[in-house]
Amino acid sequence: MTVGPFATIAEIRAALASKATSATEVAREHLDRIARSDLNCFVTVCEDAALAAAREADALISREGQSGLLGVPVAHKDVFCTAAVRTTCASRMLADFVPPYDATVVTKLRDSGAIMLGKTNMDEFAMGSSNENSYFGPVSNPWNPLRVPGGSSGGSAAAVAAGLVPAATATDTGGSIRQPAAFCGISGLKPTYGRVSRYGMVAFASSLDQGGPMARSAADLRLLLQHMEGHDPLDSTSADVEPTPSAADGEASRIGIPGEYWCGLDPRLAGALDDAAAVIEQIGHRRVDISLPHSGYATAAYYVVASAEASTNLSRYDGVRFGHRAQMPADLDDLYARSRTEGFGAEVKRRILTGTYALSIGYYDAYYRKAQRLRRLIRQDFLDAFNDVDLILAPATPSTAFEKGALSAPDDTKDPTAMYEQDVYTVPASLAGLPALSIPCGITGGLPVGMQLIAPHFGEDRLLALAEAFQRETDWHQRTPRP
Ligand code: GLN
Repeated sequence: MTVGPFATIAEIRAALASKATSATEVAREHLDRIARSDLNCFVTVCEDAALAAAREADALISREGQSGLLGVPVAHKDVFCTAAVRTTCASRMLADFVPPYDATVVTKLRDSGAIMLGKTNMDEFAMGSSNENSYFGPVSNPWNPLRVPGGSSGGSAAAVAAGLVPAATATDTGGSIRQPAAFCGISGLKPTYGRVSRYGMVAFASSLDQGGPMARSAADLRLLLQHMEGHDPLDSTSADVEPTPSAADGEASRIGIPGEYWCGLDPRLAGALDDAAAVIEQIGHRRVDISLPHSGYATAAYYVVASAEASTNLSRYDGVRFGHRAQMPADLDDLYARSRTEGFGAEVKRRILTGTYALSIGYYDAYYRKAQRLRRLIRQDFLDAFNDVDLILAPATPSTAFEKGALSAPDDTKDPTAMYEQDVYTVPASLAGLPALSIPCGITGGLPVGMQLIAPHFGEDRLLALAEAFQRETDWHQRTPRP
């Protein structure tokens, strides 16, 4: 029996447990859909390894029954290192890089029985909001192939939305889980900074980077998080906290609506969010108007901090130890310069240049230190707000999925800050290290609208509980693009 393109993890688990289907059949049908898809979601498909793992899963299921994620297909964003499977970060720099080890998230999901079908496309080094910065070409939005899927985790989001996988991993530095989830009409969770190990995740901005799950329901996000999270001695910033419980805490809560986020918001998105807020009120939560006064500085602060960290993290790509190496260098300087010139795309170079500038003597105080001060104020805004409310409801994006080429040009002639402004609603929670998710809450112009929910640090249980309750009342998460 086939489970069909839009089965949730919960449904796949049930079908495996009842022996209505097998892990091999489930892997096969998803691999067939991947092969037929022209959305460019995948950089690498691991068909043989996936089918071998599925056969092992079937043997285990017949002996011990289904448990955990045993037999559930997943895809990993190509930012997670996978031993023996190339990990490109969608960059020419790493186009042939085969890591010697697995990321902790990859190990954990494999240990829970999940079957990796492949590695998903993304913006190069996770820098971008449209997936147009990939060395492997853009990804199409399954709702409308002329539109972007969002970024940087565009391949993961589009693959879930198109029914190519029921779940995928992704990373979020300034919105790269929430924004593509919103654009593709799926559910995506950025956990609290530190809840999920960053070991083996190619670094972009280390004080912001956080891995998390994408799926078709909040209940599936909870299950995936449980199999991804946990303290990791290999990541010194990973937190040692209580695991996420399976049974949601369903208490009524106060939901903060930050006025700043509604100011100037597209009325069609505002309408969908107001309707969603009304549903949340109907199920017993209270709506409270709040203010996050420094929100307007978040994008500027984020792009200084993230680029500064990127400029230092990406200094390791020197053409010597690994990654792209220029041919016939005249001397060592030429080797460095040409390897980096050839290996990195335009947006990555721009981040390295601006980040290096912001960190240089004479500009450090004016840019980097100032951005860090703003970051503290933004974080404090949230901590103050969470004295009065339990969760915050906000837009995930300023618009629905925009057209390919609208904010970027192949010759790099468009103003890059127009793309950066797409992140206005997602970067504040990133700067504050808070958990936040995006779930579908409407459709306008034939495209999904995302609702963002933000919780206090390590408040994932409460965050997911509200998302699960919302999805019991509504069916936006069950809407799918035309096949
Ligand atoms: N769009 C943002 C950027 O380009 C966020 C990227 C991310 O979260 N990885 O930096």
